Amino acid sequence: MGFVIKNITVVSYNDELEILENVNVAVDGEKIAYLGTEMPDLSGYDVINGEGKTLLPGLVNAHTHTPMTLLRSYADDMALHTWLYEHIFKIEAKMDSEDIYWGSQLAMLEMIAGGTTCFADMYYFMDRVAEATAQSGLKALLSRGLINGAVLDDYSNDERLSEAIDLFKNWNGAADGRIRIAFSPHAVYTCSPQYIAAIRDAAQKLGAYIHTHVDETVKEHNDCVQQYGKTPVRHLYDIGLFDVPTIAAHCVHVTDRDMDRMKQKNVSFIHNPGSNLKLASGIAPVPDALKKGINVALGTDGASSNNNLNMWEEMSLAALIHKGKSLDPTAVKAEEAFKMATVNGAEALGFHDTGRIKEGYYADMIIVNISKPHYLPSHKLTSNLAYSAQAADVETVFVNGRMLYDKGDYKTLDREKIIYNVNRVCSRLF
Ligand SMILES: [Zn+2]
Repeated sequence: MGFVIKNITVVSYNDELEILENVNVAVDGEKIAYLGTEMPDLSGYDVINGEGKTLLPGLVNAHTHTPMTLLRSYADDMALHTWLYEHIFKIEAKMDSEDIYWGSQLAMLEMIAGGTTCFADMYYFMDRVAEATAQSGLKALLSRGLINGAVLDDYSNDERLSEAIDLFKNWNGAADGRIRIAFSPHAVYTCSPQYIAAIRDAAQKLGAYIHTHVDETVKEHNDCVQQYGKTPVRHLYDIGLFDVPTIAAHCVHVTDRDMDRMKQKNVSFIHNPGSNLKLASGIAPVPDALKKGINVALGTDGASSNNNLNMWEEMSLAALIHKGKSLDPTAVKAEEAFKMATVNGAEALGFHDTGRIKEGYYADMIIVNISKPHYLPSHKLTSNLAYSAQAADVETVFVNGRMLYDKGDYKTLDREKIIYNVNRVCSRLF
């Protein structure tokens, strides 16, 4: 049995953007069973009144590092290289599996309350993140970030890669299919070509996706050109990494030719505007990527470089910053930003029957209160969602038809316990 949301406004992409007013949406088990103006037989169904509200697909945070919530406001206002090597890597070396667990649960509290239902996460001790994800009810593409030490010809005994393979074997398809496991070469500057090739082979053998950072900074771009004689995208393309379905975070300094290669190999372009601005990495060529038909999705990156996991803010930034850069007010439209944050993210992460409000799709949906002052008047709802909406407007969150959150109440996670433990591990770490 399931529930019906009555008289709600649905915003979702099918082939085109659809805004359906005063419709009823019925959910049976994990999936959307009915969407339309008729009233389905309600016997045995819970009924939710949707008046003054909108029902959207859950937001997809397509690039983050959830345990980095513990490092929020720990190292700010510095360049990526200094931030990463002099601060982040040093404190990360002290973090144990318990820290990772509580840090990721803190991220899940924040994501759920803001309407994120699915995320792509790259870190270490990922079995603990998988455990936290299973408990939270969220959907995720998880991967162990891989960095090689010595440059070797043969990585068949590499400890981290073996860990990633074990993670896949233990967790891929777990929690009723809510968890999928990817492989993550961290970046071209932390992985040798041989190591990237070994990771590609492992992913290919298991049918897994790749989640990596690509061309985030000018330094990464120039160093790669100097060391390998080619751009990061061309370098990864030549290694054959993109023969595996890939999500590429950042892509700030990719060239026109790079984007042709990304399109050719169906690589998803994960735009992280907040993180790129904060670390002064630059502004990614998203309007060009959209023109080429590349699948562009949105991510927050970790909470240490953002400093939040608020996908509404990313949507707004994505719709704004390209206008400012190009002096073209049509560069990224509100509807495009909304699409990046929903269906494009779900597609990028390989959750193909998710990301739309559509019969037969998984009921990953959020109810947003659009009767608050900052939505009025609603001349154009999609503009209000991209430019005016706040994370706090999210009232109710469902994943696979299960309610995870309702008006401040967490249904799967223990907020007080998580905050207590975050404070406890932080007093040891810092
Ligand atoms: Zn990242």
